[in-house]
Amino acid sequence: MVAEQSRLETKGVVCTHCDRPIDIPATAMSVNCRHCHRRVIIEDLKIKAYHAVMRLATAGRVEVLKKAHVVAQVRVNDLAVEGEIKGDVIALGHVVVGKKGKITGDVSCRSLAVSAGAKLHGFYRVDPDFMPEPSAVSVEDDEDDECV
Ligand SMILES: [Zn+2]
Repeated sequence: MVAEQSRLETKGVVCTHCDRPIDIPATAMSVNCRHCHRRVIIEDLKIKAYHAVMRLATAGRVEVLKKAHVVAQVRVNDLAVEGEIKGDVIALGHVVVGKKGKITGDVSCRSLAVSAGAKLHGFYRVDPDFMPEPSAVSVEDDEDDECV
């Protein structure tokens, strides 16, 4: 019996909509939240150009590359910024801002690393225990604006 071996690996993430914890298969790219039933994107994203959406949300990592310009509410696990973000950022993990990076908006994250030369305009809350309040976010509308 190899049951132990073949068991699906899961990882815990926090729903990007309702902020409740969910377990997902380690290889999943997206999953439906069992609390709010909305689609949660897990995959890592690389933003290479101008990208304007209502909300950029993934339970993975987002890299905003040089010359990329993101205009969105950003909700991610980890974030690396070499380009520019305009909008509030919530990161459940680590935020790294490179020397050409620029964030205009409020940022909440667990840890922050900023290179000399980066521009940050906004209110920062950096706390290793940071956790967004679970919300009963209404299940309406913005399903479609979180494109990739
Ligand atoms: Zn949810």
